[in-house]
Order: sequence, then structure tokens, then C-alpha cells
Amino acid sequence: MFSPATHKEILPGSTIGILGSGQLGRMLALAARPSGYRIHVFSPERDTPAGQVADLEMCAAYDDLDAVRAFARGVDVVTYEFENVPANTAVACQQFAPLRPGPQALHIAQNRLREKTFFVENGLPTAPFAAVHSLADLHNGLAEIGCPAVLKTAVSGYDGKGQIKIMHPDEAAAAWLAAGQVDCILEGWVEFERELSVVAARGLDGRFAHYGVIENSHAHHILDVSQAPADVPTAVPAQAIEMVRTVMEALDVVGVLCVEFFLTGDGRLLLNEMAPRPHNSGHLTIEACITSQFEQQCRAVCGLPLGDTRYRQPAAMANLLGDLWFSQRRETTGGRAETQRKEPDWTAVLRLPNIKVHLYGKREARPGRKMGHLTALANSVDEAERMVREARALLGN
Ligand code: AMP
Repeated sequence: MFSPATHKEILPGSTIGILGSGQLGRMLALAARPSGYRIHVFSPERDTPAGQVADLEMCAAYDDLDAVRAFARGVDVVTYEFENVPANTAVACQQFAPLRPGPQALHIAQNRLREKTFFVENGLPTAPFAAVHSLADLHNGLAEIGCPAVLKTAVSGYDGKGQIKIMHPDEAAAAWLAAGQVDCILEGWVEFERELSVVAARGLDGRFAHYGVIENSHAHHILDVSQAPADVPTAVPAQAIEMVRTVMEALDVVGVLCVEFFLTGDGRLLLNEMAPRPHNSGHLTIEACITSQFEQQCRAVCGLPLGDTRYRQPAAMANLLGDLWFSQRRETTGGRAETQRKEPDWTAVLRLPNIKVHLYGKREARPGRKMGHLTALANSVDEAERMVREARALLGN
């Protein structure tokens, strides 16, 4: 049985176990390998983005607790790259290895209602919200919060999935049906000026490090472009960073965590959501910072000193979605819409100085699926943003 006292520092050469095997696990593995760590990944799938670069890809269901225990026995620490790790899986891991961040962070981050309640209990501002467990709750919530509002399923929604915008109280019944009549949160619609995020890390010794404020723009609810440092009023970064420190201390997080914020026109920061893991908006730290968010995750979960988070240069990142692998729909002579598969024009982008291409090794491109990203470094954040958008446009579509 794992004893916390004997697991203070998990030194290079040890084995890191990752629950989940997507791109975040892949980038953690790639960041941990240079300092000699071995990587084992656990997920229900094979030939995964993380599995392709790991020492061991264990394939089993998350609720196969015998398999989870066998996995945890073979590693020195367990971390995760998605927050919907079932509670039983987390407990099974903890019998044999430290789980970092711990189960409290998972418990809060798995449920939007718990998350917003936790923020408010810790004195952190959010959009007005109400718990919705029935159509009657939704009517009451709309009367209290007003329209427009957004109804979100409390669990397993991401990238805008499970979200319904409500413009008028008459739409309540349809929205409740569309949400699947499951536990939801109703939030007041925020006319934000900008969306921001802070990625930060907290060590086993309680030390805290952050990557400043990153500015994000979304398309169809999916992160599209991130840029850092964010061009925001001078008081904003310190406030946002202190809020993230509050979150991490309250949850005793050991690892990396990201908080997403709305910045309103009158300069207020509202917390939207958090993820107790590296975040898509922090991918630009791979090239831009002395220590990337993934190396930092490795250091933090292994109980090592945190690395220097300073930026070498302003940076911008653009996501590459599966849509890039398909040409625009065209009307055929018979009047039917048609999509055609194509390969993005990689050589056009690889010719550009200061653009880095990341692909996650996913075999199948699907519209909306995150397949990779581009990062640009430049002398100003505006220039980096322009470069990364132009580079992505060269890929086609
Ligand atoms: P989420 O899954 O909560 O991060 O939502 C995805 C995106 O939907 C956010 O990044 C925002 O662009 C938008 N969004 C979510 N909640 C709200 C809200 N209460 N007000 C305005 N926009 C929102």
C-alpha cells in the first residue's frame, strides 16, 4: 500500500502513470521523457495520441478496477489528462500510488454546479447561476436570472456540448428537453469583452507558479486562438492570478490547473470554469516559455521544484480542427452537398520561420475534432496572432 511519507520526490527515471491518452497526455509524455521519466498510459483505446509516445499503453475500461490497480502498481505517481476520471478509479489508483492533483480537485471540476458553488464559497465572482433539477427549477431560475441565459448540463459537457442558449422564458420547456432532462446549471449570459485564462502550477511544498494571463477566442464554442501575454488593463493580471492561487490552495492542488475567465466591459473578472490539468490555452508555453505547462505538470506531480515560467517571446496558438481535412461542401450537379477529404498543405506552413506545427497522431479527422495546433512566436502578441492565423489559412479550407 502506498505511503505518502515515502513518496516525497519522484525522481527522473521513475514512471509517471497517466489516466487518459489524448493530446494532453501525449504532450506530457513528450515533456517528461527528456529528463528520463517513463510513461504508462491507461485508457479504453489503442494507438492513442499518448499511447503512441508512451512506454506502455494499457487498454481497459476506467471502471475495470482490477486493471486500474494493476496500472497503479506499475507506476510511481498517477496523474490524468481529463477531469472525468470516475471517483472509484481515483480511489483504486490511490491504493498504490499518489494521485496528483488529488480527488477533491476532480470532484469539484467534474460538475459545473459544484464548481460554481465552490467558486462562490471561496469569495470568487461568477455569472449569476441557479441549480436546475426540473423544469420548475428552470422557470424559477429564468425568473431570477433573466434572459438571455444559458442552460448547461452539470456533467460531461465540454467545448460547448450540452449548452443551450435561452433568449426568452417561453423556450424553457424546449431547452429542458434538449438538455436531456438531466441535472443542469442555468447561467446568466455574460456580454464579455474578452475571454481569458490563467494556467498555474502548485508544488508539493505549496509553491505557486503561473503563466500570466492568456487571451482566448472561441469559434463554435471551441477554443480557436490563444495569445499571450494578454493585452488587458494593468490591474487584471494580478487579480486573476490571485484568484487562481485561491482556487489551488483551497483544493490543495499539486499539479497544473487552468481557470477560464470572462472579462466584462466594466473590468470585472468572472470565473467560468476550471480544469485540474494542462489546458489547450497553455499549449503556446511549449515554445514560448522556459518551462512548458507540460514539463511543469511533470515537475509538480513528481514533487520537484517548479520550473521558470518566463516567456521568451510573445506567442499565439491556433487550433487545427478536423475540418481542415475536408474541402468545403460543394453542390454537385444533382444538387447534393458533398465533402471531399484532402491533406492540409503542410509544406506551405513548414516553410514559414517562427511557426511550429504540432499534430497529435489521431488517425481519423472529424469536423470539430482537435487534431493539432500551430504556435507562432513574434516580437509582439498582435504580430504572433496575425502570423498564426495566416499560417493556418495556408493549410486550406
Ligand atoms: P464552457 O464550456 O462553459 O467553457 O463554454 C464554452 C464557451 O461558451 C465559453 O468559452 C464562452 O465563449 C461561451 N459561454 C459559456 N458560458 C457563457 C455565459 N454564461 N455567458 C456568455 N458566454 C458563455
